[in-house]
Amino acid sequence: MKNYWYISTPKEVFIDLDGDRTNRLVTVLARIRGIMESHKFPIRNVWMFPSQSDNHFHLVLSLNHECSIEVRTALQLYCFSDVFRTCNNLMRYERMPAADVLISNLNWYKVFGFYRMPDSSCLCKGKHNNDAMQKCVAAKELRGKERAFIYFDKPVAPEDFFMKKFGKIK
Ligand SMILES: [Zn+2]
Repeated sequence: MKNYWYISTPKEVFIDLDGDRTNRLVTVLARIRGIMESHKFPIRNVWMFPSQSDNHFHLVLSLNHECSIEVRTALQLYCFSDVFRTCNNLMRYERMPAADVLISNLNWYKVFGFYRMPDSSCLCKGKHNNDAMQKCVAAKELRGKERAFIYFDKPVAPEDFFMKKFGKIK
């Protein structure tokens, strides 16, 4: 199975609705409609694509003109794009090219009439976790040496006292 890589441009906002987001999708679409009707952001079109897992979605907001990383990140967070991914991407911008990517098993251009071709592709099987990123030809090509670096690792449950004290807790 082929994976198609899309790198966000300054005229795009990528939204990754991961986990079971069926209910959240309604909220996200309501927020996007509100944003568009406010005319405060230059959103031209909204594209929605299925993700590899059930109830996961990828959305792309195409913009009328280029916007800063800050504006695009604010839109991502407001639209519930996966926060772990969004925070890592924000940190990656300083460290590597292709910080913000969506990977799909569908070529959006061919299947949905999306306005551009993917930036790259690979034949990896399964999710692009850290190990897969090390081996992935597309990740090597687009992100280089630092392709598997993540800033925010998995959360660690706080120690009990963490929850009980006030003042200096750690
Ligand atoms: Zn790959």
